[in-house]
Amino acid sequence: MSDPFLQRIAELLGPSGLIADPAGMAPYLEEERGLFHGKARLVARPASTGELAELVRICAQEGVGIVPQGGNTGLCGGGSPNGEDQIVVSLSRLNKIRAVDPVNFTMTVEAGVVLQTVQNVAESVDCLFPVSLGAEGSCQIGGNISTNAGGTGVLRYGNTREQVLGLEVVLPDGRIWDGLKALRKDNTGYDLKQLFIGGEGTLGIVTAAVLKIYPRARDQQTAFCALKNLHSSLALLGRARNASGDQVTGFELVPRIGLTMGAELVPGVADPFDDAHDWYALIELSSSRPDAGLRGVLEGLLGDAFEAGEVLDAVIAESLDQRKALWKIREGIPEAQKKAGGSIKHDVSVPVAQVPFFIERASRAVEKAMNGVRVVPFGHLGDGNIHFNLTQPEGADKQAFLGRWAEMNRIVHDIVVEMQGSISAEHGIGRLKKDELAHYKSPVELDLMRRIKQALDPQGIMNPGNIL
Ligand SMILES: Cc1cc2nc3c(=O)[nH]c(=O)nc-3n(C[C@H](O)[C@H](O)[C@H](O)COP(=O)(O)OP(=O)(O)OC[C@H]3O[C@@H](n4cnc5c(N)ncnc54)[C@H](O)[C@@H]3O)c2cc1C
Repeated sequence: MSDPFLQRIAELLGPSGLIADPAGMAPYLEEERGLFHGKARLVARPASTGELAELVRICAQEGVGIVPQGGNTGLCGGGSPNGEDQIVVSLSRLNKIRAVDPVNFTMTVEAGVVLQTVQNVAESVDCLFPVSLGAEGSCQIGGNISTNAGGTGVLRYGNTREQVLGLEVVLPDGRIWDGLKALRKDNTGYDLKQLFIGGEGTLGIVTAAVLKIYPRARDQQTAFCALKNLHSSLALLGRARNASGDQVTGFELVPRIGLTMGAELVPGVADPFDDAHDWYALIELSSSRPDAGLRGVLEGLLGDAFEAGEVLDAVIAESLDQRKALWKIREGIPEAQKKAGGSIKHDVSVPVAQVPFFIERASRAVEKAMNGVRVVPFGHLGDGNIHFNLTQPEGADKQAFLGRWAEMNRIVHDIVVEMQGSISAEHGIGRLKKDELAHYKSPVELDLMRRIKQALDPQGIMNPGNIL
């Protein structure tokens, strides 16, 4: 990369738009799990879509690779640059709320707005933006869109793809595609925005989006239940959906080991029950009607579940603090796993009715392959999405354990694919699962994906080496 290149970028973006010193660049080069240590020539921080478009035009002329980055909380290394011939493009300065329209139930935001801010702005007009996940205080809406993030509200509202009505995108040749329409219906040919949602920055850079917002929840009830066994979770899910008129906005599965690890290692996590149980479910019901009577509905359905022998014990949150404490049990699991040593992760989905069978089968298979491995399967049961995570055996060598990542992936993913599931339910492919994608996708699917990439980015400058 020539110095004149650096000069051009500096002239375009000014001092606050460019980071080229190692200490300043460091946070952009390390990713969440420490699995990838990035390398890049510089970090560019454009302040407007126009500046970004000009930056991309310069990179296209010089053949320089571009790695878009939001909050850098992705779990597949997709925002991690891997060469001195690449630059990181941070979207953090594109952080304006362009419009909020509670009549149309939409808001238009720039890509660098932090997810929690999007939620807060929706709340300020008495509405709800339903994408919610553990990293919401630092991930950005552009990153959520580019990974088609899931989270805890998918069962009721769908994933991020379902929340996007329109997009503005800088294309790999520097042109700006203005697709910022706030329409619920638009059947004018190919739905181009879908290519960029979940595109992980390989087809263009998302700079702004029109998002759906919803009536805010005014009655919300949360319970944490001890299940009779793993299979009872399905009966309870069906019962809750039916009894509440499909008002279930969260249904999360927690194994005993997830709770005990959290209680031991994560401040704020506590076991709400006197007795130990193998499996737990967190249920949340929500309605925009303040008089929906969900407390009674929840008590009623839990009572019926007791009688049917599906639930052995349950606690219902009496306050916002108690609700947070119950969610902390679920959300503390990744942090607990981090503190407990090395983890080999699988973010997979199978049809909802198959989840217990998948967990049993995959647990047996990995336990047979590795003595003492601690299986911690948890997550969004209502969407069939389980984080089938493995914690290293007590006292094992972390690096030796992590060295078996590919072997464990193959065991688990073979079972997932046999059960008609997905090897990446919500985190994407990035650099981490590239080989797995190539292994499991059909030749037809891979060919179509490569043709789309070639059509939009013939020079291959957008996030090189990501996904494909
Ligand atoms: C504690 C924790 C909990 C999490 N829970 C969940 C969960 O429940 N569900 C879930 O789906 N994910 C979850 N994640 C993963 C992560 O938060 C999401 O993938 C999130 O959507 C990434 O957003 P980001 O802004 O950090 O993106 P980054 O990590 O910066 O980037 C992710 C990918 O998107 C690309 N990208 C980023 N911004 C743009 C843009 N504007 N235009 C084009 N490409 C772009 C990057 O190049 C990269 O490939 C969790 C992560 C953590 C740390």
